[in-house]
Amino acid sequence: MSPSPATRAPLRRAEIVIDLAAIRHNVSRLREYLRTPIMTVVKADGYGHGLVEAGRAAREGGADWLGVASVDEALALRAAGDQGRLLAWLIMPSEPAEDLLVADIDVTAYTVADLEKFAAAGDALGRTPRVQLKVDTGLARGGAAFADWSNLVAMARILEAEGAIRVTGIWSHFSAGENPADPISALQEKVFGEAVAIAEQAGLRPEVRHLANSAGALLRPSARLDLVRVGVATYGIDPAPGVDGSPWAELGLVPAMTVRAELALVKQIEAGTGVSYNHTWVAEQPTTVGLIPVGYAEGIQRRAGNRASAWVAGARRPVRGTVCMDQIVVDLGDTSVEPGAEVVLWGTGADGEPTAQDWAEASETIAYEIVTRIGGRMKRRYVDSDQDTDSPSEQGVDR
Ligand SMILES: *Cc1c(COP(=O)(O)O)cnc(C)c1O
Repeated sequence: MSPSPATRAPLRRAEIVIDLAAIRHNVSRLREYLRTPIMTVVKADGYGHGLVEAGRAAREGGADWLGVASVDEALALRAAGDQGRLLAWLIMPSEPAEDLLVADIDVTAYTVADLEKFAAAGDALGRTPRVQLKVDTGLARGGAAFADWSNLVAMARILEAEGAIRVTGIWSHFSAGENPADPISALQEKVFGEAVAIAEQAGLRPEVRHLANSAGALLRPSARLDLVRVGVATYGIDPAPGVDGSPWAELGLVPAMTVRAELALVKQIEAGTGVSYNHTWVAEQPTTVGLIPVGYAEGIQRRAGNRASAWVAGARRPVRGTVCMDQIVVDLGDTSVEPGAEVVLWGTGADGEPTAQDWAEASETIAYEIVTRIGGRMKRRYVDSDQDTDSPSEQGVDR
């Protein structure tokens, strides 16, 4: 696989290029390395890579399941033709379950009320809902509190015995999977084991028990269980950057997203010139600056002003001054670059260009936020570096 297919495409204003081969490769490599079935998480528009396209590429790479948060995401995958196992886990009290059941989606129950809703919908449709039970083992976010777990399990067992539901899974979610030094993960694993034992004693025989996200799957072999829910690593982003003992480097996963733009303008400025709003950067010597036509409306973090850099003419060029709504300024030094030259904000890093992780550090956030928030007026274009052709599909980014 070649490192930067994105940059061989014709350049236009500003765009997000997604290499589907990278997603396929990453899923298949993760599956092989983890030796565990994989649920590829494609929520939040495939972490900014496109829900349907990321889902399709993940299936091609061998994803056994797809996972999403919302009802709309699950139904959109089905509408696009996805037919594999698919789990949704954030179904609102106001949202009817019928469409999910008709679409053959595994649903997650946190409460007895959820179970009753799914059972009633299944009854009305003459179908047996496939339900997974989520237990809160320490994140204190979604899922049944451990104190309520026995009750939830007992109700699930009654409904299952009546043929009103089938319990296909039991699962939970780590609080600090990316931090092996935090003892919470071992504790969560222990609590999860107890929750599974309670369910089994009640007579439930779930197909899958799952706990690990990307970081948990990579860093805690004991947490791989029957299935791992891998999100960010699918897209070639390290879930635990800088962690000792992480297998990340040996995995060879490839970032799937490149954000590129055309240089709008190049100009000389004098020593003492203040750049961008409020002159938060002042040139100490004469220099050349370039204008990039993306800003915080595209999801570029405002905090990246004076900290991040973009790749122009074979080098990283520092962002100078504030990130504006539509544009940012970079310092080209004494390089001569023409307007219209290619800018890579972030990409695979293979040629030395910044990565989403570099932008995350410059923005004091995590790379998850960098890729999920990028969009605005930029369109996505899909390429396939295995086939070396551009796919014609292009879409606006809804955020
Ligand atoms: C988002 C999410 C994941 C994926 O997490 P990554 O860190 O991106 O691998 C897994 N499980 C649940 C419940 C999630 O919400």
